[in-house]
Amino acid sequence: MEQDCIFCQIAAKNSPASIVFENENLIVFKDINPHAPVHLLIVPKKHIRSVNDITPEDSAIVSEMIFTGKEMAKQTGVNESGYNLLFNVERGGGQVIFHLHLHMLGGWKR
Ligand code: 5GP
Ligand code: ZN
Repeated sequence: MEQDCIFCQIAAKNSPASIVFENENLIVFKDINPHAPVHLLIVPKKHIRSVNDITPEDSAIVSEMIFTGKEMAKQTGVNESGYNLLFNVERGGGQVIFHLHLHMLGGWKR
């Protein structure tokens, strides 16, 4: 838990978010500035800065994030039309929140 990390604060319920799923390992909430009709963030409760910082010890949580992304797509009804699962990595990759998160975006009409 990093005091000045907004996603740690959301995971600790110290900051509000529109939470759609939670278990002991991760939390899923709506992106505050959605880039798609459905835009969720799948966030481990453990503070990890970015994909660059994951280690073999994090294999289970990274796997669970992707699996949860698939489940969230099904739950929000975008699984058959299709969706993106996206990691932005560090500043050049568009990352602005330095707590690991997987974007799930979908629901476009096309
Ligand atoms: P990144 O560019 O780091 O991969 O994505 C960070 C995402 O977090 C952005 O899409 C942004 O809209 C979202 N975000 C930033 N701050 C907050 C917040 O306080 N609450 C929520 N729900 N989303 C946030
Ligand atoms: Zn954090």
